[in-house]
Amino acid sequence: MKIGRRGFFKVAAVGAGVAAAGAAGASSAAGAAGAPGVETQGDGPGVLVDTTLCVGCRGCEAACAEANHNPPPPASDEVMKTRRETSENAFTVVNRVEGAENRFAKKQCMHCISPACASACPVRAMDKKPEGPVVYDPSACLGCRYCMVACPFDVPKYEYASNAPRVRKCTFCYERQKVGLKPACTEVCPSGALTFGRRNELLELAKTRIYTHPDKYVHHVYGEHEAGGTSWLYIGDLPLEKLALRNGVPEKEVPPLVAGALGAPPFVMTLWPPLLMGIYMFSKRREEGAGHAAEEKEEHHG
Ligand code: SF4
Ligand code: SF4
Ligand code: SF4
Repeated sequence: MKIGRRGFFKVAAVGAGVAAAGAAGASSAAGAAGAPGVETQGDGPGVLVDTTLCVGCRGCEAACAEANHNPPPPASDEVMKTRRETSENAFTVVNRVEGAENRFAKKQCMHCISPACASACPVRAMDKKPEGPVVYDPSACLGCRYCMVACPFDVPKYEYASNAPRVRKCTFCYERQKVGLKPACTEVCPSGALTFGRRNELLELAKTRIYTHPDKYVHHVYGEHEAGGTSWLYIGDLPLEKLALRNGVPEKEVPPLVAGALGAPPFVMTLWPPLLMGIYMFSKRREEGAGHAAEEKEEHHG
């Protein structure tokens, strides 16, 4: 990594911002979970993904790409031969379930009720809206990528190749929801695999389906408790860990853990300064080395 003098001051400013916001980071965690008007009881918008109904058409991928001005997804189903992750240009991907010919599961941001990404963000560039969606404001983002580290589902991705990189992820089609439209993916799903509604009602619907067909469904609603509860819920007839969803996500809320790790004074006060100085010295030495090499080359040719 090469960071010039100006780059160092930018990084240092980020460090200072993080240090100053250390406490704010922790309070952001509390804010994401408890500020007035912020959804805390999981009664906001949600989606029930019934993987027994998904036909793997990937219409949701195309609709998502269009709604978010991303490149269209690959046309060929060849891409489904390997498990895919979301990317900076693909906010949702459909994966074939391992070992099952006709089972598929879509992946996107889970829009956690108490999102770790938002709690880790020192400037609330990643924020949970009172209406429920967890959205990102590039104009506020420092580029620290704490949100990416904090997310237990490995969802946010970074535009490493861009000159003005942003963090990118599913927005739960917040702009569409604000004007009364459904998320684009749920609108186009032809098979009823995606049901958009209030999360608490979707939870009831999920449990009703399981209780009505106990031999068909695995008795687990993924997202009811994972990471303290998520707006997107999954049910299916195969072990849920096969659905390309994250295994081992803790059932408790993640923000207090993240705030503890990232906002702790020992990290901010003791590790940031030497880290920044280390980056600076490393890049300075490289710059000086490059300078000497250029001078020697000039002398040699002269
Ligand atoms: S899934 Fe990750 S990115 Fe999405 S709201 Fe939860 S913590 Fe944030
Ligand atoms: S809710 Fe919107 S942004 Fe999220 S996966 Fe669906 S279409 Fe994409
Ligand atoms: S649009 Fe619906 S049926 Fe098609 S892949 Fe997406 S979730 Fe499955």
